[in-house]
Amino acid sequence: MRDVSLWRCLLGVEKTVIERVEFDEDAELLVLHVRPTARQRGRCGLCGRPSPGYDPGPGRRRWRALDLGTIRAELESHAPRVTCRTHGVVVASVPWARHDAGHTYAFDDQVAWLATQASKSTVTALMRIAWRTVGSIITRVWADIDATHDRFAGLRRIGIDEISYKKGHKYLMVVVDHDTRRLVWAAPGRTSATVGEFFDLLGEERCAQITHVSADGADFIDTIVAQRCPGAVRVADPFHIVQWATDALDEVRRQSWNQARALARKEPKRGRGRPPVDAPPRPGNERAKALKGARYSLWKNPENLSENQQVKLAWIAATDPLLYRAYLLKEGLRVVFQLPHAAAAEALDRWISWARRCRIPAFVKLQKSIVKHRTRILAAIEHNLSNGLIESTNTKIRLITRIAFGFKSPQALIALALLTLGGHRPALPGRN
Ligand SMILES: [Zn+2]
Repeated sequence: MRDVSLWRCLLGVEKTVIERVEFDEDAELLVLHVRPTARQRGRCGLCGRPSPGYDPGPGRRRWRALDLGTIRAELESHAPRVTCRTHGVVVASVPWARHDAGHTYAFDDQVAWLATQASKSTVTALMRIAWRTVGSIITRVWADIDATHDRFAGLRRIGIDEISYKKGHKYLMVVVDHDTRRLVWAAPGRTSATVGEFFDLLGEERCAQITHVSADGADFIDTIVAQRCPGAVRVADPFHIVQWATDALDEVRRQSWNQARALARKEPKRGRGRPPVDAPPRPGNERAKALKGARYSLWKNPENLSENQQVKLAWIAATDPLLYRAYLLKEGLRVVFQLPHAAAAEALDRWISWARRCRIPAFVKLQKSIVKHRTRILAAIEHNLSNGLIESTNTKIRLITRIAFGFKSPQALIALALLTLGGHRPALPGRN
């Protein structure tokens, strides 16, 4: 193997001439002086079309390459400018890096792969870059993948959802494909115009091919879906229906907790340290503390409860009949989505009449919303869109929004979500 070929393989570059290699011992940096091969020279950085030269540019530029063993490596080259027929005066393209990027293709691809697999601290420490740089890299890697793949191919049954990030101040609209369980689109905002952007991108012909749309019951989503996909069956998103019930349950738990705290305020105060054996009992205090900790016992699906949480639930059943009734109502509604369609219709109606008479305001109110969405809830069950996998996509996206916290732009967050949960995952450089 000739030296040049070996260097090209090591760096993961193509169509590149290696002029000379220089080792800066103090900086522990390998600098490779390179230039594009003759056929690659003088092309527009944006479209790649051969274009007449404009000027030699502002001097030599460097691109960070993958480390070679333990040593950092950089490519150095001229960065001349050309005059493109379409794009005007623009920096000429180089075969080793994306336009306007400070890192090679191989470096970008490795960062993108890592970002979908490892923690923030792993990526930044291993690649020796800031998290913000990771954001820019994954944004451009995703743009490249998106340009060569059609993520909307064969889209039939979709789910539209809104997700909050930055502690609830900002929102993303997301669209998932129910058949492949993949994320297909996301954009910042939470208006009908935001959802409209998706349908614009999809185009009229493909909108007509959408057969089912699930959503969280927000009116603005409903309106735009009715306009753009008039033929689609609109169904309720089971994830959100169960979420409503969980919220109603939490309202009841908070009321119970507030009552206990009101009682606790009338109880004698205790000083620091272990209370004396003959100290008067403080049932209000103990109750408030236990109820605060009971949140997860009430939220979690009963089959996932730890032994400790089961004990807590049994304690609620024995001491707080109203809160326990609220818990059973929540669980009852959740179970409806696990039944076959015929049984679900009957179970839902029984649930509605139970909730109407339950004398818990939060659930009487919930019952009204359920009646309003009854047809769509049953449609979700009939068309088998009640699967727990929708919930898991939801959970995964929420997890990514937390990891992506610290990116400056929502575009980086969206790129990370699509790279991780979309149909086209990034590959490691040099692997098939
Ligand atoms: Zn061009």
